[in-house]
Amino acid sequence: MRDVPFAAVAGFPVNHSLSPVMMRRWLADVGCPGDYGRVEIAPSHAERFFKALPELGWTGVNVTVPHKEIALQSADHVTDAAKAIGAANLLTVMSAGALKADNTDIIGIKAALAEDKTDTPAVLIGAGGAARAALSYLARQDRQITLVNRTRDRAEALAATCPASIRISTDLDEALMGAGLVINATSLGMTGQPSLAPDLSKTQDEALIFDMVYAPLETGLLKQGAQAGRRCVDGLEMLIGQARPSFEALFGAAPPADTPIKTTLLEALGQQA
Ligand code: NAP
Repeated sequence: MRDVPFAAVAGFPVNHSLSPVMMRRWLADVGCPGDYGRVEIAPSHAERFFKALPELGWTGVNVTVPHKEIALQSADHVTDAAKAIGAANLLTVMSAGALKADNTDIIGIKAALAEDKTDTPAVLIGAGGAARAALSYLARQDRQITLVNRTRDRAEALAATCPASIRISTDLDEALMGAGLVINATSLGMTGQPSLAPDLSKTQDEALIFDMVYAPLETGLLKQGAQAGRRCVDGLEMLIGQARPSFEALFGAAPPADTPIKTTLLEALGQQA
């Protein structure tokens, strides 16, 4: 048992996660007793670990790749947002010792896409957990949606969960023509992964290019966006946007609005590079 509120980010691997940097900075600035760490859990142990959280005395965990679906299944209560997305990025221990699963990724996506023109054609690249959250955002709007993924079956399975009409394509260059919003929700472009750097000159002049990857911060996709004169949004905007409600749920206080959290994260990224 801990004598101060304790939470962590759980994943496999998890060393790259910037969540502890962000949460500890907010804890210090808000003057709240508590601590936040990282925990690497192999998939075979994830469910047992999540169910043990009340006994461990933790306030909860943020959940990252590849545990978001197991997290949902391990919970006693599931919020509508997590249910709709089919994955949880936040587990909190309730007062009765039960576990609540929530998904704040969609809040992060909304924050990142504050300047999105929601009636323009959107191209979503990816069909994993992050793409599910993005699709949940897109499906609330009246817009054309094209889903592009390496594995077509996975794209079809994801589209089938969504009430909106979705076009599926494996030809990214063709899908990008006339797009007003492009979202990368794959791990392509991450340090150590193959690059994603399509020609974006055929997208709309005002198109918004959003890459969920934040290490490196300026991915091949965003470089292509800048070169084509498009508006670009990096993955830190979503990371910060999803972390704000997580912090409040885990530590019972809102993160201070005036903390220059992006600067803190940029410094941490510089140290990781
Ligand atoms: P995931 O469920 O494992 O899905 C991975 C996706 O990437 C799938 O669509 C997969 O395609 C695709 N992919 C992986 N390797 C590929 C390759 N070599 N070529 C083509 N496609 C490839 O992961 P996730 O949870 O959705 O996360 C996806 C990315 O979003 C990660 O980089 C993660 O860090 C980022 N993310 C960022 C934030 C943030 O706050 N900024 C939040 C959540 C996630 P297949 O279906 O064909 O395998």
